Amino acid sequence: MKEKFYLILAQNSAQMLLINKLLKKEGIQTDLVPAPPESGTVCAVAIKVNGDYLEKSKSLITKNKIEIINIYEDKKMKLQGLIDKKLGLSVTKTFLNILKKIENGENFLEEEIIYLLSTKNKKEIDGIYAAADKIRKETVGNVIEIRGAIEFSNYCRKKCKYCGINSQNKIKRYRMNEKEIMEVVKYLDKIGMRTIILQSGEDYGWGIRRLTELVKNIKEKTRMRITLSVGEKSFKDYKNLKKAGADNFLLKIETTNRKLFELIHPDGNFDLRLKCSKWLKELGYINGSGNIIGIPDQTIQDIANDILYFKEMGINMIGIGPFIPARGTPFENIPHGDVNLTLRTIAVTRIVCKKVYIPSTTALASLDKHAQVQALKAGANTIMLISTPEKYKSDYKIYNNKNMIDIDAAIYASEKTGIQLPAYLKV
Ligand code: SF4
Repeated sequence: MKEKFYLILAQNSAQMLLINKLLKKEGIQTDLVPAPPESGTVCAVAIKVNGDYLEKSKSLITKNKIEIINIYEDKKMKLQGLIDKKLGLSVTKTFLNILKKIENGENFLEEEIIYLLSTKNKKEIDGIYAAADKIRKETVGNVIEIRGAIEFSNYCRKKCKYCGINSQNKIKRYRMNEKEIMEVVKYLDKIGMRTIILQSGEDYGWGIRRLTELVKNIKEKTRMRITLSVGEKSFKDYKNLKKAGADNFLLKIETTNRKLFELIHPDGNFDLRLKCSKWLKELGYINGSGNIIGIPDQTIQDIANDILYFKEMGINMIGIGPFIPARGTPFENIPHGDVNLTLRTIAVTRIVCKKVYIPSTTALASLDKHAQVQALKAGANTIMLISTPEKYKSDYKIYNNKNMIDIDAAIYASEKTGIQLPAYLKV
């Protein structure tokens, strides 16, 4: 008989961490994974346990008077209608087998992901996008999630070769203060935004105490969820930020190929990046990662391994953007990444990882104004509105010719794709 797994969903992340700790202490193996589609909540983490330990887990939870919302069997997601008779004549056997696997909700091998990323057969490419679109609808619904991003400082201590705000680049620097940030936060709250993203370089001027106070203040004054994108920190710092009220954390791996990682991050540490991502998961953050498509020397196999990493790590938010050169950086003369390969990576990531947030990235929209719409048709479900004040936004130049996505762009994307804007947004 096959092993069964179950997903336990707690009332909130504090209770979930408590349960996780409790079960682990009793020798029950657990894993923190994205909440199942039937839970209705996309933005949550569930605890996965082996069916053999379900009764023991339940009794431990009851004994310790911890409230849970529900327990779901971790079923494979099945899809119908991807294969029709006509398809057999125009696609390969390999592709048909992969489609069968998608229909049966099975996991994929590295070579199958490579196949999906590299096929040149038009029918197969259409089939990949159709499957990704269907899975997007089934798992996260027919709504474009909207996030407001405040890029609150472009100071950074790091030297990432692809990034226009790296410490070596001579650019105009700015650092917003608490009052300026709170003004934007209150505006976003007023227009109904549910999640804000606070993004910056690794800025010493925004140390952990200051950041923690900001998170607390936002939580006191609004009911918004907070996503932080402020780089590598210690376990203790991540813990304090979580305790202060941060919900989500975005720390992209950029590439899972260690050599490539080291090439593009001269002062980076691959093991530390992996460790940070594991800490974030352990602390119960909704964990964000992502990669860059088109880094020098990157292969399709590298991208396939990135996708497998997102799946294995149970990453909840996956940002996939093309490389775009930034003026003044060591990579300024390297050609930008391929838009079609980026779109394909989004689609394959949706097929492999299923219930995750995938933004239609600003970087994609910066290369091709239609690409944002195409990404939403290829499995993406989120748009990030650049909400940095006018006087600063053009200085957050992580790459050239950044497209300042605004609400009009989101309305346009919704009209073009037929995917609704969320009801919570008052625009
Ligand atoms: S990618 Fe991030 S850490 Fe690297 S230089 Fe840019 S802002 Fe700093």
